[in-house]
Amino acid sequence: MSDTTDFEGRGVVVTGAGSGIGRASALRFASLGAQVLVADINPVGAEAVAKEIEANGGTARTVVGDLSYQGTVDEVITTAVESFGDLGVLVNNAGIMDTMTATADVSDAEWERVIRINLTAPFLLTRAALPHMLARGNGAIVNTASEAALRGSAAGTAYTVAKHGIIGLTKSTAVMYRDRGIRVNAIAPGGTRTHITDTVTFDGDGASIVGRYQKNVGRVAAAEEAAAAIVFLASDAASNISGAVLPVDNGWSAV
Ligand code: NAD
Repeated sequence: MSDTTDFEGRGVVVTGAGSGIGRASALRFASLGAQVLVADINPVGAEAVAKEIEANGGTARTVVGDLSYQGTVDEVITTAVESFGDLGVLVNNAGIMDTMTATADVSDAEWERVIRINLTAPFLLTRAALPHMLARGNGAIVNTASEAALRGSAAGTAYTVAKHGIIGLTKSTAVMYRDRGIRVNAIAPGGTRTHITDTVTFDGDGASIVGRYQKNVGRVAAAEEAAAAIVFLASDAASNISGAVLPVDNGWSAV
């Protein structure tokens, strides 16, 4: 047993770390001594976060690219292993929610894109990271699901399906590797103020997603609140927690 602050020297990969929940997680891991690989499709966000980590005396590397492609995934894992000499934590956090389309209106292209980025990418990263974690004897994977993973959601069919799939990926990987030192968990954030909530409106009435969250949960969370849960689940303080889905939603899912 040790406490959550025990990330000294550990190699940590955070996807979608150029913004929002991923950025807050990357900064928190770095402040706890981790070496952090910032992976994002957005070069400006990724570089800014890496610079912020280094300005605070930490170690960071960036890989910029679309994580739904095997080539980017391989670059992420190789860079972490070669630069840090360690890959102890993988946070599958990158995601998109830029459409809210209902089932009958989902195009093939939208389905493919949302599933690839929100579900296939975490699978590809998990598959690529596992051999390195198995070789070091342990590892922790944390997936960012969503309140949309816990029930039918107005967030759109493809997004809701992908996030439910994240729970399946979390639980099946947790069960299959629990005898080999690998823990796999997920967080299910409710409304959290990030680029997603600042840019998405509901189709039709143009209502803001922040307004909806405000109504349903009383308040919109800060990205740091989701990051705190991610870091806890990745830490040795969660040493007997695997296959869990932790809502971070001010009780929304309890209603
Ligand atoms: P965000 O837009 O601020 O951050 C997402 C990051 O992922 C961005 O930096 C973006 O560039 C990156 N990204 C997107 N597609 C990518 C790709 N193909 N390859 C690499 N990087 C890519 O949004 P956020 O709210 O911080 O989202 C983080 C996660 O939290 C997502 O999985 C999202 O579904 C989930 N989530 C967010 C909320 C919320 O209210 N904000 C609620 C539930 C779940």
